Order: sequence, then structure tokens, then C-alpha cells
Amino acid sequence: MAKISMATPLVEMDGDEMTRILWKMIKDDLLSPFIELNTEYYDLGLEHRNETDDQVTVDSANATKKYKVAVKCATITPNAARMTEYNLKQMWKSPNGTIRAILDGTVFRTPIIVKGIEPCVKNWKKPITIARHAYGDVYKGSEMKIPGAGKAELVFTAEDGTVTKELIHDFTKPGIIQGMHNINDSIESFARSCFNYALDVKHDLWFATKDTISKKYDHTFKDIFQEIFDAEYADKFKAAGIEYFYTLIDDAVARVMKSEGGFIWACKNYDGDVMSDMISSAFGSLAMMTSVLVSPDGYYEYEAAHGTVQRHYYKHLKGEETSTNSVATIFAWSGALRKRGELDNNKELMEFADKLEKATIDTIEAGTMTKDLALITTLENPNVVNSEGFIKAIRATLEKMM
Ligand code: NAP
Ligand code: MG
Repeated sequence: MAKISMATPLVEMDGDEMTRILWKMIKDDLLSPFIELNTEYYDLGLEHRNETDDQVTVDSANATKKYKVAVKCATITPNAARMTEYNLKQMWKSPNGTIRAILDGTVFRTPIIVKGIEPCVKNWKKPITIARHAYGDVYKGSEMKIPGAGKAELVFTAEDGTVTKELIHDFTKPGIIQGMHNINDSIESFARSCFNYALDVKHDLWFATKDTISKKYDHTFKDIFQEIFDAEYADKFKAAGIEYFYTLIDDAVARVMKSEGGFIWACKNYDGDVMSDMISSAFGSLAMMTSVLVSPDGYYEYEAAHGTVQRHYYKHLKGEETSTNSVATIFAWSGALRKRGELDNNKELMEFADKLEKATIDTIEAGTMTKDLALITTLENPNVVNSEGFIKAIRATLEKMM
């Protein structure tokens, strides 16, 4: 059988530790035998980031602007321990942060659903995708402890010197205050990324804030979403048969619990931080969660939602067997290949992406899985395999489908 060709490259960002090991296995066993892989390769492994003074990360993000699609392996975000372990020149910033800053995107996280790994919430039948706004609010807040009586105010001094003040509180006793901000541009980008992604995957979009209490701050989020929706997306949503639905955050939480899933839930920064952990653990496992960064300009970067699985890597280095789940990394590749196919009108490539995902799911549903899933599956007598065995099992399923 002739291999599937790719007219345009996609940006390949290699990474660290156990996921770097899985990365190579996935390419060798699941991709290269079927596709004439066309990638522009960037090594974001920590050693190479250190050698290039992290320029490689910036270059890979700029390449994503050029080719529009990237696939990224998990990478180490250095801390003090990594400084010594890798003899680093500097404590380089999180590559994901650097890439996000260049592409200005929103991250969408979606659980991968398989029979035998049941969500804790029994009525959830379809995935719930969380879209988290990644700028501002409490994450860029400034705070103060108030030692005793006194007046706390919000003060804005315009460039022309005009001062606007708003009373926070007349303190008579010690307390605390916090100031936070957001920027209309950032909220607009967030809204467009969400609307575009909803159209892409044809799922309804939900958005919720606390606008009844926060009549200026949260209400601005609500207004910006509504204005952009009405002006640019209402017709497109109608044509796609999907809805934009706004409600209060507490109402949203109640509805999410009672829903059967199958929608995107756009969240402000803090809500997204908290709710994505709730959603991912309720659906089963971080290793069964895809993540894609979508920029308002239509650039896509696919990755797994988990990290480099360091503990497994150290076992691997000692020659011990590992049973690391490669599903999220496989889906990062299938997501990127499908998007490449879509942009290039390459039907074969899109079909291959579908088959790769189906082969992965079928393999698990037939009972072959890694240890993390075996611990939570409702299937009886699962066939627990090692990291490599799992990929080989998917290969066997895939070959039967091709
Ligand atoms: P992690 O790599 O996600 O792993 C945490 C634990 O979750 C693992 O020890 C393992 O549990 C389980 N796990 C995660 N993925 C798994 C998989 N695919 N298969 C099986 N089990 C899996 O998080 P971490 O240990 O906190 O971070 C390690 C490194 O990853 C850090 O250097 C961090 O900076 C980096 N990181 C990168 C990204 C990214 O690039 N997007 C995201 C998060 C973290 P058991 O050990 O109990 O089996
Ligand atoms: Mg969190």
C-alpha cells in the first residue's frame, strides 16, 4: 500500500522524559509505516532549549504561525531541581507559556471517552470540553493585607492626569484587599477562539460568569462575547446547527452536572483552572485528555494534557518495565494530522487520523490497556501491557483497518 503523502509540513515539537520515549515509538510504529511524514522538527527537549538559550521554543512557535498546525510533546518546566539535574544556564520559562504568548491562544481540553472507563457522573455520555481563558484576573492580581482602620480605594489615573476613584472599603479593623484586571483585547481573542473552535468541532458553546454580582468586571466578559457573537458568528452557528448559550456560573455548574455532555464550556481564568481538574478527574484520567491551543488567527497546537511522566522515565532509565499510557500523545498526533488534512484538503490524511483514533479506542475496549486504566476499568480481566506493548497492540488493530 502506498504511503499517504503530506503536501505541507506540520510543526513537530519534541519534548522530554517518558513522553519523548513514547513520541518516537508512536512515530515509528503508528505513523511512519502509513504516512510519508512531512514535519518541520524542533527539539524542545530541555537540553536543546538550554543549548539554544530557549530560542528553539520561540522558533517553533513562529513556525506554527507559518504552517498553522503543530504537535507538541510534553516538556519539562524547569524548577530548582532541574537546574542541577540538567546543569541549566537559566531557569527557562515554561515552553507552553512562551508558545501561548506568541500565538495568543486559548487551550481546549477534552476527555477521550472509551467504554470500560466510566465517568463518575453517570449521565455524562459525551465529552465536556473546557476552554480556559489564559490571561489576567487573580493570576495577575495585586494584593494587600490591611493592618487596621483606613480607607481602601481603586484609583485609575488616566494619561491626561484625570483621576477616577472607587471605594473598596472603609476599614475599621484589619482585613485584606485584592486588585485585578483584564484587557478587552484578550477577552475578544478568547471569545473568537471559542466561537471558532465550536464551529470547528460542531459543539454548542456555553459561557458563564457572575455578572449579576460583578456588574462591570464580569459583565464586560458577557457583553464582549455577546457583541462578537451577534456581529460575526450568529449566522455561522445557525448554519452549523449549534448554539451559543450564556448563563450564570452557578447555574452552569448545576446544568453541567445534569447534562449528558457534548459541549464546550468556556471559563474565565480561575473557573477554568478549577473546573478543568474537576472535569478531567471525573472523566477518569489525565492520560485520557487531549489539549489543543487555538489562536484567534487560526493556528492550532495539539498536545497531551499531562506532563513528561518523570517517575516512569526514571524507571525506564533503570531498565525497569513501564506501563505508560500513550493515548493522549497519540491523539495529539491524530488531531494535528486531521487539521493538516483539513487545511490541505487531504482526505486520506483525515481518514487516517480517524482510523488511528478508532484503533486506539478499539484496542482499549477489547481489553488491552496500560496499568493506569486497568486500575479504573469496569472491564473484567483487562490485558495489562507495557508502554511498548500497548503501542504494538494499537498497531495490530490499525493494520486490520487499513
Ligand atoms: P505528570 O507528568 O503529568 O505525571 C504525574 C503522574 O500522573 C505520574 O507520575 C503518573 O502517576 C500519572 N500520569 C501522568 N501521565 C500519565 C500517563 N500518560 N500514563 C500513566 N500515568 C500517567 O506530572 P508531573 O510529574 O507533575 O510533572 C512531570 C514533568 O512534566 C514536570 O517537569 C513538569 O514541568 C512537566 N509538565 C509538562 C506539561 C506540558 O508540557 N504540557 C504539563 C504538566 C507538567 P504514577 O506515577 O502514579 O503512575
Ligand atoms: Mg489547576
